Formats: sequence, C-alpha cells, structure tokens
Amino acid sequence: MKSNSSNQLFSFSGIVCSTLGHHYTVTRKVTNHINEYRCSHCGNEVTDNFSGSLETLTLKNKEINSTLASFFQKKTRRRYAAA
Ligand SMILES: [Zn+2]
Repeated sequence: MKSNSSNQLFSFSGIVCSTLGHHYTVTRKVTNHINEYRCSHCGNEVTDNFSGSLETLTLKNKEINSTLASFFQKKTRRRYAAA
C-alpha cells in the first residue's frame, strides 16, 4: 500500500513538471557559470553546458563537470594564493 501511494505521488510530480516545468535546485557548483541541478519534484538532473543552455546530466556530462570543477578549483586557489 505504501508503494502505491508513493507511485501516485511520483506520477503527480510528473504532471506538475510537465505543466509548470521542473523546479531545479543547484546540487553542485562546477564553475561560476556551470552548475548541476536536480528537480525537487521528479528528481530529473540537468547541467549547464558551454553554450549556456540546460542539458540532461548524463554520466559523460558528470565526468566533464568533474574535470572542469577540479580545474576551476585549482585556478581559484592559485588566484587566492596570489592575492
Ligand atoms: Zn521535475
């Protein structure tokens, strides 16, 4: 019975997302311009891409973001060290 009600909740969230759009919250800050987001209603994950639009967060995109994030952190650290 419990799984039944959660299934209903899930499909209801799907309807909310398809009518009102996803409600994304930032799950990871990759760079100043690129973030990863997760929809708090349906759990759909997306990321900013280089052209500034949202893209589905695939395994490949996660890997690219991880590389970007470590590169960005190194750059930020160096800037702080210099200042
Ligand atoms: Zn959603």
